[in-house]
Amino acid sequence: MTAHEVDRGSQVGDAVQTEKVNLLGLTRPQMEEFFLAMGEKKFRAQQVLKWIHHHQADDFEQMTDVGKALREKLARVAEIRGPKVLHEGISRDGTRKWVFEADNGGAVETVFIPDGRRGTLCVSSQVGCAVDCSFCSTGKQGFQRDMTSAEIIGQVWQASRAFGPRKNLGEHPITNVVMMGMGEPMLNYEPVLSAMRIMRDDLGYGISKRRITLSTSGVVPKIDQLSRDLDVSLAVSLHAPNDELRNQLVPLNRKYPLADLMAACKRYSDAITHRHNTITMEYVMLRDVNDKPEHARQLVKLLKGIPVKVNLIPFNPFPHAGYERSRKADILAFHKFLNDNGVLTTVRTTRGDDIDAACGQLVGEVKDRTRRSERWQASIFHRAEQPDSNAAPAQ
Ligand code: SAH
Ligand code: SF4
Repeated sequence: MTAHEVDRGSQVGDAVQTEKVNLLGLTRPQMEEFFLAMGEKKFRAQQVLKWIHHHQADDFEQMTDVGKALREKLARVAEIRGPKVLHEGISRDGTRKWVFEADNGGAVETVFIPDGRRGTLCVSSQVGCAVDCSFCSTGKQGFQRDMTSAEIIGQVWQASRAFGPRKNLGEHPITNVVMMGMGEPMLNYEPVLSAMRIMRDDLGYGISKRRITLSTSGVVPKIDQLSRDLDVSLAVSLHAPNDELRNQLVPLNRKYPLADLMAACKRYSDAITHRHNTITMEYVMLRDVNDKPEHARQLVKLLKGIPVKVNLIPFNPFPHAGYERSRKADILAFHKFLNDNGVLTTVRTTRGDDIDAACGQLVGEVKDRTRRSERWQASIFHRAEQPDSNAAPAQ
């Protein structure tokens, strides 16, 4: 692949395709290839990467250590184009949300959750999702399209822009990234991989392997591929302890049943050599569906021998979901049973619900964006009047 072939796909917000190469989505080797193909020196890649990702530059004229002639040449063949921000909101608890324009009247969302010294950005990978989990509002919209690597890393870039220039890598407010927004990242593998490489790279965002988490509904061959390609943390959306129930909740289970998925998780944790080889198992708590003592018992058995921690996510309701959130007492009992039986378990806490930033609330009505925008603006303007609710956060 040449640099010119990289990421020329359509960008969020642009109806007209351009022939310019969007440098935003290029990894370091791709950027080097791009400059070599232009007849320029490789080190230019380092300079330009820093301008883009450390300083969030979008104009070659800002690049003062790049000569005028090269800046003009770059402006003719390349561009730095992030996804277009439709809306931005800040919740009372500091959670921030961006809505980015996608074509066909669609949108994707990115959420930032501050927590003490940690700041987690929840990033989307696809517009819609084809997996169609029965409890997920993204799944209910169906699949629209894959996002390009420029659009995926562009969410980190735009969020960084909102925080202003950083002085050094350690001071960046975005300390963690979770691929837990819209879409199934493993079904858009290459662009997601490129974006995660840029997150990891010191010339990009310099985020350590333990602080980047890819969440998957269980695409088994891609779990193996990821263990060969890049060392990041893995989260698996389990949600059920047996195949019969998981087939209903996560239809992908019919293709990759639990025995195969658990074996892949074991291989992944064996392949990850650093000390933090724990896999996070996400388990959405659905009232009277998967929250009974028998489910907890089955879960303990299923997870035996795999280094995991379980994250119980109280279900986030949305219109016509057909599910309810588990009772508090059932969540606590489930939590206790797992911990008492040696499975490290946490319950996800409340964040960002006054701006609709919680899991499963990411872009509810794609077909009705206008109404959604009104609701969204209203939620920002009226947030001071809103009482606290106990919805779960976006990650
Ligand atoms: N497609 C990937 C990543 C995005 S979903 C995956 O499924 O892992 C991120 C997490 O939010 C997943 O664990 C998903 O199951 C969960 N989720 C989806 N809808 C939800 C809802 N309505 N309430 C709570 N969690 C939800
Ligand atoms: Fe897709 Fe994840 Fe939602 Fe399932 S939970 S439909 S995989 S986004």
